[in-house]
This record gives sequence, structure tokens and C-alpha cells, in this order.
Amino acid sequence: MNKIYRKFNSFIELRVKEKNNLKDFLSEIKKCLEDKKNLSFLSKNDIKIIDFVKKDLFQSEKNDRPKLRLTSNVIKEIQTLKPIEVPRYLVHRYRYEIYPELKTVDNFPPYLQIEPTSICNYRCVFCYQTDNNFNKRSTGFMGHMKLKTFKKIIDQAEGNIEFISLASRGEPLLCPEIKEMLSYTKNKFLNLKINTNASLLDEDMSHSILESGVKTLVFSADAADKKLYSELRVNGKLEKILKNIKKFKEIKNKHYSNSKIITRVSGVKVNKKQDLDKMEKYWGNLVDQVAFVDYVPWENVYESKLSKVSTPCSDLWRRMFVWWDGKVNPCDVDYKSELSSGNILNNNISYLWKSENYNKLRKKHLENLRNKIAPCNRCVVI
Ligand code: SF4
Repeated sequence: MNKIYRKFNSFIELRVKEKNNLKDFLSEIKKCLEDKKNLSFLSKNDIKIIDFVKKDLFQSEKNDRPKLRLTSNVIKEIQTLKPIEVPRYLVHRYRYEIYPELKTVDNFPPYLQIEPTSICNYRCVFCYQTDNNFNKRSTGFMGHMKLKTFKKIIDQAEGNIEFISLASRGEPLLCPEIKEMLSYTKNKFLNLKINTNASLLDEDMSHSILESGVKTLVFSADAADKKLYSELRVNGKLEKILKNIKKFKEIKNKHYSNSKIITRVSGVKVNKKQDLDKMEKYWGNLVDQVAFVDYVPWENVYESKLSKVSTPCSDLWRRMFVWWDGKVNPCDVDYKSELSSGNILNNNISYLWKSENYNKLRKKHLENLRNKIAPCNRCVVI
């Protein structure tokens, strides 16, 4: 049997600076949820979700219902919010974590990943960017999102989806219109994340990120020494990344001292030489969090052996991806979009999320028939 990849919690370990007193934190949340004015913007359904959240966080009653848990990084995210934003965040956290367990689909995906570009300047050993049938311009998979397409997605997501990532198959900072895109996200989402290899993080880009709606900035780096870094992040130079991240911190401290942006160095754990203690020593003073995520064999699912996994893939109820050309896909394991259910340029997010094709795919998974669908039959994500 292949190793299974649990999408619910992909962190192997996450180290967060300044641990919180959970008891104090929960009493703050309780106070916030008891204040009626903080709930005044919620719909009837959201209020129901808040009731579940309250039970999960403040009552120890036993039941079979999946329970919302607050991990250290979630607590950090909540602490960046105003009291009036906290209930809305908890509703969307609940949708993100619990809907995939309950197999619930409502009008919008709990999480949206938007890809500003599919092009990458790196060829990391564990990534599908090493697939020559994918990474060449001539294959048709490569391109940058247009600002007009991006705005269309953001306009539909605002107020409906709070958890957004600007990243997927490529390096987002390579997109020629990324600065305008970042600026368009300002004050629109409670949880907007961008993942970057930091190779193009110059001063100008740092200002654009700090002025935008980005709440969490993830630097993808997997090692604390030059040799190992370059072996894993092919085309990458550790000194350059280090210099850029140091500069980012300086700019943040000097010009944006009130910024609540959370920074994280996150690596993919692919071999035993990688050590989180060394990572923490190397990066810990520059960022708020250091983590390793589990490795999924992303390189080429289409040529992997059959996985024999029959458990439904939770991501079908958690997130939706929009590629640079507007194509919508349920995951990036399927980086060549064989499972695509349509295009944002022709239909809206809500329609696509609930579309017949998407629902058929979910149904097959629920019937334990993912072995009849390619590439789910070769994938180990559950
Ligand atoms: S290939 Fe199928 S099983 Fe794997 S992550 Fe994508 S949707 Fe889920």
C-alpha cells in the first residue's frame, strides 16, 4: 500500500514563535462571540455554524460530529483580526476544516487557489515543473494570468470566500501584473496567502506585498545549507533568498511597523538530511514560523503506479483551483487538468463548484470508485 497523504493537515511540524496561553485565548474568543454586534453581519446559516464552533471550543460534550480544532497557526491568524472579523473567520475555518469531513458543498469552495502564472524559474526535484511535457511553452500549459481575469475572480470571491492562496503551479512573482493583482486584494479577505520561492522578492515587490491584502507570506525553502538547498530547489541560490528575506524584514520593520502579516519559511520534507532544528536556527530570526510539510509525489502523477487508495479525496470538498487561463481544477496533483470542470471565463465560481462534472467526480469518490478515474487512481491524497 502506498503512503497516504492527508490533506487536512499537511504540516509534519510547524514551529511558531511566542506560544499563546490557550485558556486566555479561548476566553477572548468567547467574549468576542458573546458580543451581539460582532455577529450582526452573519447569515442564519453562519449563526448555526457559530453555535457548532462554540460547542467545539467551549464544551467538552462527546459526539460523533467532527470537531473544529484551533492549531497554533490558526490562533496566530485569529490574533491578527479585529473582534468584528473573528466570527466570520471562524465560520470560514469551519467550512474549510469540517465541510470536507461532512462532505458538504455549499455555494462557494471554502478555499480558492488562484494561479497568477504556471511558469516557474525553479525545477525543484519534487515538483511537476520537472515534467518536460508540461514545462515548455509549446505544450500550451504555460502562461500568465491577465489582470482582467484576476479581477473577475476576486470580484466573485469577495464576501463569499475568505481563504485564498495566490499560488499553484508556478512562481507567482513571475507574473508581469502581480503588483496590480496584489493591490487589488487590499482589505478584501480575512486569510489571503501567497507562496513564493523569494528569488524575485526585491524591494519594490516587498512594498507591493506589504501594501496589499496578503495576510500570510510563505517562503518556500527546504534547507539551511547551500548545497542541500540547491540540490532540492534546482536553479535556486540560498544566499540570494536569504538576502531577499532579510531585506523584506527590514522594509517591514521600517515602513510597515503596524503590519500584521505572518511570515513563514516552509519546506517540503523529502529526505532525512533536512532538519527542522537547523531550519529554525537559520530562518527563525527572520520569520514568524518555520515548518516542514509532507511530500506528495507531485512530479508526475500520470506515470505513478496505481495507488489502491479508495478513501475519498477531501480536497473535493475543500478547495478549487483557478489556473492562469481561467481553467478550473479540483487539485494541482492533476497539473495537466484532466479533471477540469470548466473555465471561469465562461461560468462563475459558484456554478463551477456545484457543476455536474464536479459533483460526478465527488460521487465516484464517495462510492469508493476513485480507481476508475485518472489520475485519482494513481494519487495518494485523501
Ligand atoms: S488527483 Fe484526484 S484524488 Fe488526487 S488530489 Fe486530485 S482530485 Fe484528489
